[in-house]
Amino acid sequence: MGDLLRINNVHARVEDKEILNGINLTIHPGEVHVIMGPNGSGKSTLANVIMANPVYEMTEGEIFFDGEDITEDSTDKRARKGLFMSFQSPQELAGISVENFIRQAKLARGERTSLTKFRRAIEGEMELLDMKPEYKERYLNVGFSGGEKKKTEILQMLMLQPKLAILDETDSGLDVDAVRTVSRGLKEYLNEENAAIIITHHREILKEIEPDYVHVIYNGKIVKEGGNELVDEIEERGFGWIVGEEHA
Ligand code: ADP
Ligand code: MG
Repeated sequence: MGDLLRINNVHARVEDKEILNGINLTIHPGEVHVIMGPNGSGKSTLANVIMANPVYEMTEGEIFFDGEDITEDSTDKRARKGLFMSFQSPQELAGISVENFIRQAKLARGERTSLTKFRRAIEGEMELLDMKPEYKERYLNVGFSGGEKKKTEILQMLMLQPKLAILDETDSGLDVDAVRTVSRGLKEYLNEENAAIIITHHREILKEIEPDYVHVIYNGKIVKEGGNELVDEIEERGFGWIVGEEHA
C-alpha cells in the first residue's frame, strides 16, 4: 500500500531558533508510530509542523499526505484531508459547546448527518470514554479537569475519524483509569486504514496498543528507531545511552 504520510528532510525553526534538523518519517495506513525523547527535543514541534501551526516555520523539506504534497497547505486544509492532532494543552472555547464544536468540524469536512444521528453517535462514543452525556452541552474545555480535556480530544478524534491522528502526550497527567480509557478510545479508532503517531513518555498507554515503530528524537533529529522493545528499554534505562550513542 502507498504511504499515508511521508516527511522528507524537514527542518523547522521557532523565533530564529533551529528546532528540527532534518526529520524523515514514513507512515503507512494502519500503523502506530511512537515518538519519544527527552523534554525539549522537538517532539511537539514536529507534531505542530505536520499540522502547519504557523508559529513554526518550516525552512526546508517536504511533507506528503495521502499521495499529495501538502507542504504549502494550511492547517485547515490539512485537517480536511484527514490529519488530526490532540494537543498537549487543549484550548478553552467559551460560548461553543463540545457538541457544536464537533458538529461544525464535521460540517467543515462536508459531512452532513441529521442531528439525531449525530447525537446518537456522539453519545455512543462518550459512553465508551466514560463521559457523562451532559458534557456535550458544556463549553469546550471550560472548567474541564485535565483528564476531561484529554478525553474530549479523544472524543473529537473518534467523531472526526481522521486518517492520521497525532496524540501529543494525551496520556500525561492522567490517572491509571483515564489512561486506560484513552487507550480504549485509541483502539476503537485504529483499523487497517487509520494510523496514529503517539508522543509519550509512558509505556502505560502502549500496553494495549502495540506500536509498529518507535522513534527517538533528540536535538531535532531522529537518533534511534526500533520496535516495541525500545519502549521498555527506555523505561528502564532512560535516554542517556541513546543520546550518548549519538555523540559517539
Ligand atoms: P518536546 O515536545 O520534545 O518537549 P518542543 O518541540 O516542545 O519539545 O520544544 C523544542 C524546543 O523548541 C525547546 O527548546 C522549546 O523551548 C522550543 N520551542 C517550542 N515551541 C516554542 C515556541 N512556541 N516558542 C519558542 N520556543 C519554542
Ligand atoms: Mg512536547
